[in-house]
Amino acid sequence: MAEHAGPGTRSAVITAPPQREVDVVVVGAGPAGSAAALEVARAGHSVVLLERGPYPGAKNVYGGVVYGRVLDELVPRWWEQMPVQRWVTRRSTMIMTPTQALTVDFRTQAWGGPPYNGATAHRSDLDGWLAGLAEKEGAVVVPSTVATGLLRSAEGAVVGVRTDRPDGDLTAKVVIACDGVNSFLAKEAGMFAGKPAGHVTLGVKETLRLPREVVDERFGVTGRDGVDIEILGCTGGIPGGGFLYTNLDSVSVGVVVDPHGLAARKIRPEELVAELKRHPAVEPLVRGGELLEYSAHLIPEGGYDTMPDLVGDGFLVAGDAAAMCLAAGIWLEGVNFAIGAGMYAGRAAVDAIRAKDTSKAGLASYRRMLDESFVLGDHRKLRRVPGLVLGQRVQQDYPALLCDLAQGLFHVDNPRPKPGLFKLMRRVMKWHGIKARDLLSDALTGVRSFG
Ligand SMILES: Cc1cc2nc3c(=O)[nH]c(=O)nc-3n(C[C@H](O)[C@H](O)[C@H](O)COP(=O)(O)OP(=O)(O)OC[C@H]3O[C@@H](n4cnc5c(N)ncnc54)[C@H](O)[C@@H]3O)c2cc1C
Repeated sequence: MAEHAGPGTRSAVITAPPQREVDVVVVGAGPAGSAAALEVARAGHSVVLLERGPYPGAKNVYGGVVYGRVLDELVPRWWEQMPVQRWVTRRSTMIMTPTQALTVDFRTQAWGGPPYNGATAHRSDLDGWLAGLAEKEGAVVVPSTVATGLLRSAEGAVVGVRTDRPDGDLTAKVVIACDGVNSFLAKEAGMFAGKPAGHVTLGVKETLRLPREVVDERFGVTGRDGVDIEILGCTGGIPGGGFLYTNLDSVSVGVVVDPHGLAARKIRPEELVAELKRHPAVEPLVRGGELLEYSAHLIPEGGYDTMPDLVGDGFLVAGDAAAMCLAAGIWLEGVNFAIGAGMYAGRAAVDAIRAKDTSKAGLASYRRMLDESFVLGDHRKLRRVPGLVLGQRVQQDYPALLCDLAQGLFHVDNPRPKPGLFKLMRRVMKWHGIKARDLLSDALTGVRSFG
């Protein structure tokens, strides 16, 4: 074996590839990796799922809401077995300034029964459950093991991975990189060549224990019903947003922010969470909550335009490793995109192995399946949204405009007559220095993207 002179620094060349030890190696037991391993194992092929954490989910962070419908294809009647905290039957968008909050609050009991819409779930439970499904189908889950590099054939095709275990080389017909944001395997494979590094935000989250009946009462829910609140304008002018979700006997509260903005403002992320918890619209909801957990993780928010190439010879990239997290202001969905991508990656690997062609061309059905599904469909459609929602106007100016507009509309200023809506709008736009042409152009981008 010789060190590879190609794009990666850790690659090694296998000059005379032995019999491949397994059909597929999947790196990373997050939702993408477990879905990929499940599909491969279910098709009767050998698959090893490597995870650097001591167990699947140990290293994973998210806000807490999972949209499970993608599982319809993978796990029939998944809602009967998925480890759920609460089913989301209330979905609110809260737009705030430091002293105001305007909330659009939607609730429906249609989401409180099968096949459900969203659920809150702890990552250790969710990831453990998904990896367990793959294991039951025959996947070999290997925790506490880091994939440290790629093995390549003399022609440059990926033929396995190196690990941090003694004698830890593992050869395979296909390697699926599901190693999350900043995937060094994808970088090592040269998948990002010529592409921008992409926008990465920092998500920080606190889990606060509150008695179940207190959660029920404060959030106006009962039984297993739960609430998802997305928050705009809560990050002190730093591009980002916030969230507040209910679990059974705790709530998850946090912010997602641009790390450069954080550095420029010289503020620590936990201070932003503290500010959010002190906000008059949030404080009564989280009051007295006992801190159970603090966690932070990066999120690939750049969307479609920052995705790497997804297919190489013997190699596929899925989930956050391929920037497939959808972060579009009112949506923060990564787990469902990761599950979808992992599932298609697993299927493409199986098809290619059966056709005895695991080259880039042989694995091309992965891209096709993604293109035809919500994974790339949504990302393509919303490709302009990250730029829009992370801009200063959406982050700061419009929340202030909407809150002042609501305040002007609902403020009763007798004996003065009520201002007309357009007059009020013009006045508020002037206060905040918002130009009609910017508002129109953003509205147009929004309509084109979301419409
Ligand atoms: C604060 C925050 C809030 C979020 N909120 C939500 C939300 O509410 N809903 C939602 O759907 N999404 C949310 N997301 C996004 C979501 O967490 C991700 O999109 C999703 O986890 C991506 O899944 P994945 O399997 O691609 O990657 P990950 O879940 O990151 O899994 C990657 C796995 O690979 C392992 N790994 C990495 N490198 C190696 C290596 N070299 N060798 C072995 N193992 C390795 C890691 O330990 C990890 O287990 C949020 C993210 C954050 C940070």
